[in-house]
Amino acid sequence: MSFIQIKDLEYRYSDNMAALKGINLEINEGEFVVIIGSNGSGKSTFAKLLNVLLVPTGGLILVDGLDTRDPDNVWEIRQRVGMVFQNPDNQLVATTVEEDVAFGPENLGIPPEEIRRRVDNALRQVGMDGYQKHAPHHLSGGQKQRVAIAGVIAMFPKCIVLDEPTSMLDPQGRREVMETILHLNRKERKTIIHITHYMEEAIEADRVIVLDRGEIKLMGKPVEVFQEVEKLKSYQLEVPPITELAYELSQSGLDLPKGILTVEELVEALC
Ligand code: ADP
Ligand code: MG
Repeated sequence: MSFIQIKDLEYRYSDNMAALKGINLEINEGEFVVIIGSNGSGKSTFAKLLNVLLVPTGGLILVDGLDTRDPDNVWEIRQRVGMVFQNPDNQLVATTVEEDVAFGPENLGIPPEEIRRRVDNALRQVGMDGYQKHAPHHLSGGQKQRVAIAGVIAMFPKCIVLDEPTSMLDPQGRREVMETILHLNRKERKTIIHITHYMEEAIEADRVIVLDRGEIKLMGKPVEVFQEVEKLKSYQLEVPPITELAYELSQSGLDLPKGILTVEELVEALC
């Protein structure tokens, strides 16, 4: 069932060129969508439109049937769509992890015992159980970002939009956050919209969307999108490391199928 419906979406900041234009898209409940695109392609603008931090200047977005242009829907939509941003330090405000995760539910006016349950459950979901009394600023980047995600989960959103949540993390932190995202999608059935510039993070998505200069240029399963090595390069995008290697090998004359994404697939094709 479709959770987000987007029709002829356009967004302009003041009189500038459209940051987004001609976007038509449906995102299904429980889908894991990855959005890639070079700097300035409109990814963050798109994320903000989903969370009603911005309102379309053309076309419309329905979230769970709610029109984001209607001011009466803002509160409802923000409860259904949680946001995680790039810099974990800007998202953690309290002196302990549990206070941080409780912050959202407290604002929803949820009773204390229920908040306690939600906080503990959310920390378990992100693999941070036991850190309740820890100080957020002493955590690693990956741990901080997982606490920020726990703060979102504690509000029980149906959908989580993550705008480059891994871009300030080391490889270990990136893996932790990706495992958390996969868990939330596969086990908790959250709809995930993950914006990233790490192509390897797109491999496990249900669908990859490529933005370039405010438009959707490619969309499909990872194996379909990453076959388009030359197009992706023309949008200043890389392909996943293994795909790049397979591409280089086939350029130098080896007969390999297109759309190789993993080491296993490459080994199989080579042997
Ligand atoms: P991305 O997240 O893909 O890097 P953005 O959505 O941040 O892209 O930006 C898309 C376009 O909108 C860019 O051309 C950018 O310069 C412009 N833009 C972003 N934020 C603003 C703003 N607050 N005011 C004016 N233009 C903006
Ligand atoms: Mg951005």
